Formats: sequence, C-alpha cells, structure tokens
Amino acid sequence: MRKRNNRIVFYLNDEELTALTDKVQKSKFPREKFIRITLANKRITEMPPVDYGCLVFEMRRAGQNLHRLLVIATANHFFEAADSLFSGMLFCVDCGSKLNYVNEDRRNRKKACFICSAYRNETTRCSSHYIREEIICNIILETMQRIFRSVQPFEDPFIAKQREQFGIEQKRELNARKRAYDKAVSRVKEIDALIQRMYEDNVKGKLSDERYATLSSSLETEQKDLQAKLPAMEEELNRQVDQEEGLQRFIAKAKQITDLQELTPELVHEFIEKIIVHEKKYLDGKRYQVIDIYFYGVGIIKELTPEEMEAEFQKLAKQEKSA
Ligand SMILES: [Zn+2]
Repeated sequence: MRKRNNRIVFYLNDEELTALTDKVQKSKFPREKFIRITLANKRITEMPPVDYGCLVFEMRRAGQNLHRLLVIATANHFFEAADSLFSGMLFCVDCGSKLNYVNEDRRNRKKACFICSAYRNETTRCSSHYIREEIICNIILETMQRIFRSVQPFEDPFIAKQREQFGIEQKRELNARKRAYDKAVSRVKEIDALIQRMYEDNVKGKLSDERYATLSSSLETEQKDLQAKLPAMEEELNRQVDQEEGLQRFIAKAKQITDLQELTPELVHEFIEKIIVHEKKYLDGKRYQVIDIYFYGVGIIKELTPEEMEAEFQKLAKQEKSA
C-alpha cells in the first residue's frame, strides 16, 4: 500500500451528508472507499475564502454593466467636453459670481456656453451674461497670439507700456497709501512724545492724576490700533514691487511660446488668472460684449497699437542702418 500522508477533512451540512450517504449506499462501497474513488485523479486546490468568491462574482456582474454603461456613454458623447478649458475662470462683472459652464447637448459643442451662476440659480439676481465657449476660446487664443507675437520683437516698449499702465492706475492709489502709512508711523511716535510730556506735567502737578490716566489710556489705545494696522499697510505698499516681478516672470514665460496654434489646459492655466465677462450690448443692431482677460502677474495687458509697433520697427531699422 502506498503511503498516504495527506489528510483531507470535509465538513458537510445535513443535506450534503444525506446526499453523500445516499450515493455511498447506491455504490455499495464502504464510505471511505467511495470517497477515495470519487477523489481519484482530481487535483485538490485550496479554495479561496467565500467572500473572495462573492467579490469576483460581483465584479464580473458589475463589469458587464460597466461595459454597457461605457458603450451608452460613448455613443452619447458623454466624455466629450464634459468640462471646459475655462471652467472656474470666468466671473460676472456685475455680481462677481462665477459663470457656470453649460453644455447640455454634448453632441454639439458649438452650443456650449457660460452663464452667470447667480442668474442661473435665480433669474432676478443678475442677468445671464451669456457667452458661448467658442467665442471665449477664439478671443483668448487671438489675444494670446497677438501678445506673444509682440512681446518677442518689442520687449522693451511692451514692458514700458505695462509699467506705464501700472503707474497710471496705481500712482494715485499708491501715493494715498504711502501718505496714510507715513501719517500712521508719525502718529505712533507723536503719541510716545505726548504721553511722555503728559507724564512730566503730571509729576510737576500741572495735570491731575485722574486726567492723566484718562488721556494716556485713550492715547495708548489709539497707538495700539495703529500699530496693529501697520503690517497690513506695509504689505499693501510692497505690492508694487511684486507687480514688477510678475511682469518680468510673464515676459520670460511669454518669450518661450514661439508658435501658438491652439490652447491647451496647461497654457491657459499658466497664463490666465481670470476672465471677467460683461453683459452684451447692442449698438446699431450689432452685438458687443466686453471681456477683460487678467494674466498672471500682470493683470489686464495693454497691447501695443499698430502705430506703436510701426514706430518701434522704424527705430530698429534706423539703428541697424547707423550701426
Ligand atoms: Zn452676475
């Protein structure tokens, strides 16, 4: 007899046991022999846990459904244009809300548009500010192409024009902020001197203790308030410096784009900070709609006019001749 050193243990429920007993009786073999014959030449592998079996079964079932869903979704262009390049970047000029991307007919992206989200939720809150995605796309592409094309050959006048723009917009504001800051700083110092003088007056008996306490405490409060405001004011003043840095960064990035043919998500997100959409207007029966494009680091870009470019071109030509 061959040596048998593999032990197999079965656990059967009542039903299985009855079935087995039946089969054993019919076979007329002893139970052990019947089982040996039944198992002969069968490879015994370890069963995976029951849960695993259920999981595989469920996955297969879901898999078939997922596949069907995928077929339906693809046939209905569900995966095309579910989102826009500009989603989350457009804002309403009138109420400040984001514009929602509306693309209900996925088979026809030409109808995809943006609408003020406040208006969409409640029509009385704003007007639609409706603009088609395609229009935005074209405007952005053309604007970027124009800007990049003029940055390359006309870097210096381009920078000068942006600086001038920063200047015009912010000179007044900056001066006002600087004055406010200087005033706050000198007032803080002045209060120190005042308190010192009051203290001396108090010592000399010119100022009563009570009066001294009230005055000095109110001055101290004023001083504390001012000192708390100073860091924020300083930060505001320094923002001008950041703008110059932003401009330089923009120029460096823009110079790397030599041939812009189409917009990619990377390009859009690298250059464009936000797009402000105005409501459409009709002038002589023609539809007009203003959009403000804010570029990272520079804000709204002041483009060189054709005349300015021509003048610059002439200047360069003259320089070349004299060189
Ligand atoms: Zn709005």
